[in-house]
Amino acid sequence: MNLASTITAVKCPVCGTLCADPPLYRYTASEAATHFCPITRNATRHHRLKASITKLWSGDECNILQCKECQFAFAYPFVGGDEEFYSILHEQQGYPTWRWDYDLAIREALSPFEKGQILDIGAGAGMFLRGLEPQWKRYAVEGSELTREPLKAAGIHVFPDLSAIPQSEFGTFQVVTLFQVLEHIADFRSVLAQCRQLLCAGGRLFISVPSGEAMIRQEKLTGCPDMPPNHVNKWTPDSLSRVLHDANFYPQPAIFESPSWDNLKLSLHLRVMTKATNQRSLAAQVYRISNKRLRALLLSTLGLPALIKLLPYVQQLRQGGSFVIMGTAR
Ligand SMILES: [Zn+2]
Repeated sequence: MNLASTITAVKCPVCGTLCADPPLYRYTASEAATHFCPITRNATRHHRLKASITKLWSGDECNILQCKECQFAFAYPFVGGDEEFYSILHEQQGYPTWRWDYDLAIREALSPFEKGQILDIGAGAGMFLRGLEPQWKRYAVEGSELTREPLKAAGIHVFPDLSAIPQSEFGTFQVVTLFQVLEHIADFRSVLAQCRQLLCAGGRLFISVPSGEAMIRQEKLTGCPDMPPNHVNKWTPDSLSRVLHDANFYPQPAIFESPSWDNLKLSLHLRVMTKATNQRSLAAQVYRISNKRLRALLLSTLGLPALIKLLPYVQQLRQGGSFVIMGTAR
């Protein structure tokens, strides 16, 4: 497919403005597969990912377009990863940890209610729900069958997707949370509409997403792409507020993640990891070392030249990568 000739007709999925500027980025399926799993790490998984991405894009190429009006940026073809893509990707996932936005959700979204029903969409291992006080009746939407079982065992009511929640539950939730989910979904309007249906009047929808601006900065400074079809949306507070308003919510002002040294550490890690996707790089050679301790030691050594290169941008790299917006159901 010749994308360049069709891009002129693409409308911003948030505000409808025509996006006629050249794309911010252009990726091939091979680059995307290399980003998620370099061929040197696991050739079979790399090729399976590439085939799955090519199928999603109905071709070999994906562009990232940005709207001039609301600054929202999105993948074109505008299609998120499916079950097959994530099942291959998640074979290599790390352990979940408690996040800054969980604390914020408890303080901002849960605290106005003494008790109630809460739904976490894309709950993963259920780290957030497991950390809640017992007066909360906990529900989860989780697409992976493997993850659903331990959630059930922890006493959480689990659904495989939003449409599986029965109508009898509509209007009964005080809080719905979407932690780092909305950047993955092309059909975000239908997700937000379903969230509104589930919430009672005055109920809270708590959303955290990577900041589109931070993702563009990350790509510029570390070389690490915010790669589709995993992330297909780059949100800004303005664009997210617009779609929340359209879905019958009162959007609250955005809250940004605080600057921290951990964010700088993550940037160094991303830079070394991105270098390692080049098979001939020193970083790639180090990743081939099977002795874990030696590999970790050498990788931290490689972080040093990365740090020197990034030194002029320390303040920018310490900035948080995500922001939070809460919507109150109208
Ligand atoms: Zn727009």
